[in-house]
Amino acid sequence: MTIRVTLIPGDGIGPSITDATVRIVEAAGASISWDRQTAGQAGVTQWNDPMPDATLESIRTTRLALKGPLETPVGEGYRSVNVALRKTFDLYANVRPVRTVRPGGRFDGIDIVLIRENTEGLYSGIEHYIRIGNDPEAAAESVAIVTRYGSERVIRYAFEYAVTHDRRKLTLVHKANILKFTSGLFLEVGRKMAKEYAGRVAFEDRIVDAMAMQLVIRPETFDVVVTTNLFGDILSDEMAGLVGGLGLAPGGNIGEHAAIFEAVHGTAPDIAGKGIANPAALALAACMMLDHVGEPERATRIRTALEATIRDGRTITRDLGGTATTDHFTDAVIARL
Ligand code: NAD
Repeated sequence: MTIRVTLIPGDGIGPSITDATVRIVEAAGASISWDRQTAGQAGVTQWNDPMPDATLESIRTTRLALKGPLETPVGEGYRSVNVALRKTFDLYANVRPVRTVRPGGRFDGIDIVLIRENTEGLYSGIEHYIRIGNDPEAAAESVAIVTRYGSERVIRYAFEYAVTHDRRKLTLVHKANILKFTSGLFLEVGRKMAKEYAGRVAFEDRIVDAMAMQLVIRPETFDVVVTTNLFGDILSDEMAGLVGGLGLAPGGNIGEHAAIFEAVHGTAPDIAGKGIANPAALALAACMMLDHVGEPERATRIRTALEATIRDGRTITRDLGGTATTDHFTDAVIARL
């Protein structure tokens, strides 16, 4: 069956790693009809809109997108399209797996899936300054919103993810010792739900600062991790660092009605146009997408070829310590398929 996917090549290195990923996915025999759309800076160039209607309409129809990184101007201009897409399609669970691909690095045996709440917490966008006397910006306030509904659905997603992916343990990360209400509610929901999964998924909780340390001391002891928005944002980058950096870190944004898959990294403006970007993270995101639509065998074939190419080490990109171009790396992966 042909799967329809909205393809957003994105900005910077986006178009080149997207081309590479499409070549790899097609070489693995997946039957996909790509609906190419723009967003971010490319959307501004084509439609004068960083989040064009045509792109939103396409995702509404396909309910599935593979997205290259999008440029967000710092401090001025349009707001993050990535955040807007998560809000528009209510993509409440951000799934970020990290795995040791090349053994013998500083850390070994890592296989963690972080599931981050994607719509609430300190990213609700409720912020303002407070005037005191003559100073209109004497204080600033950011409001963290944590709802029982939002906590239940993402923690349920994490437990179900553990069950369906044959994983044994869920670690809930919080700061309920200090943030007794917001983090406290998230933890309470997790503890209650854990009883439903007793005997199937072991449950533990960690305070976020202790978790940050444990991740660099004994990362191999973690399995599935669930946490609120800001903690998840920070810990997922830490985890990407444990397995060799952003070039190998994919992510999925999952909702009830749509899912968008992407690399964790950005547009890499420093290397854009040089043909040396590593397409592995986006290719791994495409594998997550194939898993999601019920094509796990194809996803496994691609992962196996990709990981073997990286372990072999002769044809790897600069970020991984090699000299290969995007095209050479892609050709090497396809040869192994
Ligand atoms: P970045 O991830 O683009 O780059 C950080 C560093 O990692 C750079 O040195 C870059 O060369 C390197 N790098 C990243 N991906 C690589 C790859 N695939 N291969 C080889 N090297 C790679 O982060 P940044 O510089 O902070 O952000 C640049 C732009 O990307 C900004 O406009 C930012 O808003 C945007 N961004 C978008 C997303 C997204 O669309 N999901 C995520 C993060 C940042």
